[in-house]
Amino acid sequence: MISVEEALERMLGEIGALNVTQIALPEALGLVLAEDVVAQEDMPPFANSAMDGFALLSRDSQTRDGHPARLRVTGGVAAGYVADHQVEEGTAMRIMTGAPVPPGADTVIEVELTHSDGPDSEWVEIMKAVTPGNNIRPAGEDMRRGQTVLLRGTEIGPWEIGVLATVGWAKVPVTRRARVAVLSTGDEIVDVDQPLQPGKIRNSNGYLLEAAIRQAGAEPHRLGIAQDTIESLREKFSEAIKYDLIITSGGVSVGDFDLVKNIMTEQGEINFWRINMRPGKPVAFGHIGGVPLLGLPGNPVSAAVTFELFGRPVIRKMLGHTRLLRPQIDVVVEDGVKERVMRRHYVRAHVTWQNGRFLARTTGNQGSHITTSLLNANALVIVPEGGAQIHPGDMAKTILRARQAVTELVTRDAQQSSCLHLVAITALQRLLDKPAFDLTKECKQVNAPGRKVQLLLNLIKAAGSAAAATADFLRQVLWENLIPITYNPAALDSAAQLTHIARPVVAQ
Ligand code: AMP
Ligand code: MG
Repeated sequence: MISVEEALERMLGEIGALNVTQIALPEALGLVLAEDVVAQEDMPPFANSAMDGFALLSRDSQTRDGHPARLRVTGGVAAGYVADHQVEEGTAMRIMTGAPVPPGADTVIEVELTHSDGPDSEWVEIMKAVTPGNNIRPAGEDMRRGQTVLLRGTEIGPWEIGVLATVGWAKVPVTRRARVAVLSTGDEIVDVDQPLQPGKIRNSNGYLLEAAIRQAGAEPHRLGIAQDTIESLREKFSEAIKYDLIITSGGVSVGDFDLVKNIMTEQGEINFWRINMRPGKPVAFGHIGGVPLLGLPGNPVSAAVTFELFGRPVIRKMLGHTRLLRPQIDVVVEDGVKERVMRRHYVRAHVTWQNGRFLARTTGNQGSHITTSLLNANALVIVPEGGAQIHPGDMAKTILRARQAVTELVTRDAQQSSCLHLVAITALQRLLDKPAFDLTKECKQVNAPGRKVQLLLNLIKAAGSAAAATADFLRQVLWENLIPITYNPAALDSAAQLTHIARPVVAQ
């Protein structure tokens, strides 16, 4: 029996990222970018108006003898068109949001701050003096030609797709999406829509694994159910070896009909079998016909937990991710774990943030056939091997399973926090959802490169001193999510710079 860490190391040692391919932009969702994306043009490509209003010379906006400036309107320019003449002294041009600023004009005043005779008015009164550059979005403000806007290794979400479209990448170089075969085994297993005859149970693993594989970013192919015979397994495996990875459930234990290992030795090789953990000791890893095979246990909870611990990282490696594992945090186990087992124990739990600390409650009966223990579980509490006991109120390392869980915790945290803390948490939450990462509004700071990152880190530092558990949590989560935000050119100059700034603060 090998340790969880050794099992993971041996599996990942056998797995490489799949080949790089060009994929149509809409299909890149969830995949990993295989090249840096460098802007070939300034974006926006031309200075344009941020408002519907009038383009003018700023010096023409001054009041005269207490009266608002009155300018002659010489025409208009709409988004998508270019002005056919200059703005000259004493004149203004109607302009719409997104329209190029006409030559001659150095400022735009929003329509709300003007007075005129309506859309066809030949004159306009300027009710407020405006400075040069007002409401003008300069060319290259978003990105400059030659600037790296997305880094190789970035996971492509909807916001990244938007940026890729902005720079005109109709095809995107990505690590190919892994195609994964899912095979259930067992004479007792019937499909989900079949009546239960005596002795039979429904194929929950096939569907659970299919969903988990899809959520991990791969393309699952459910091959149905193999009977517990060599012939049936051979037939199913002849189909399964057409995929990038085979994941089976059941048939890898020590029973008379546990034949998956036999097939592995017949047609390939077993790298290892059995891991020192619970649930899920009987996990087999090897290959068949050159295709890696992960043989998970039949018990549904074991299949779910071992997929989480091994299947997901294996798939993420194939997809080209560099961060393969979920974050771990320290939690207080409110109800403790009574059972003492010699193997490493992964206990399903629900973690919340209460009174400045993370609190885990286990989800009841932890039997590996109790599928309901998976419900409402956003975390796995790790009880070390060797029969360790977790008393109620003891601390334990915990794997946070779902990103939603993290967001939920952050939200709750924000509800009971000080203002500064709240800003940091809000920032972090936005970061988790991967928005355009703009702290400027909250903090009224200048929009200088690097400034926002520094600001966030200062805030996190402050939050960290407010609660040690939060600091730990922030460290984990921030580290997990640093890279996806680095495309925003206003936030920093390069990913390397962010890592530099971030490391001393978050790794303290
Ligand atoms: P095995 O590893 O094949 O000995 O199976 C262990 C336990 O898991 C047995 O109680 C099986 O009935 C159950 N099991 C196996 N495969 C599935 C499946 N696809 N769905 C639900 N339960 C299963
Ligand atoms: Mg079986």
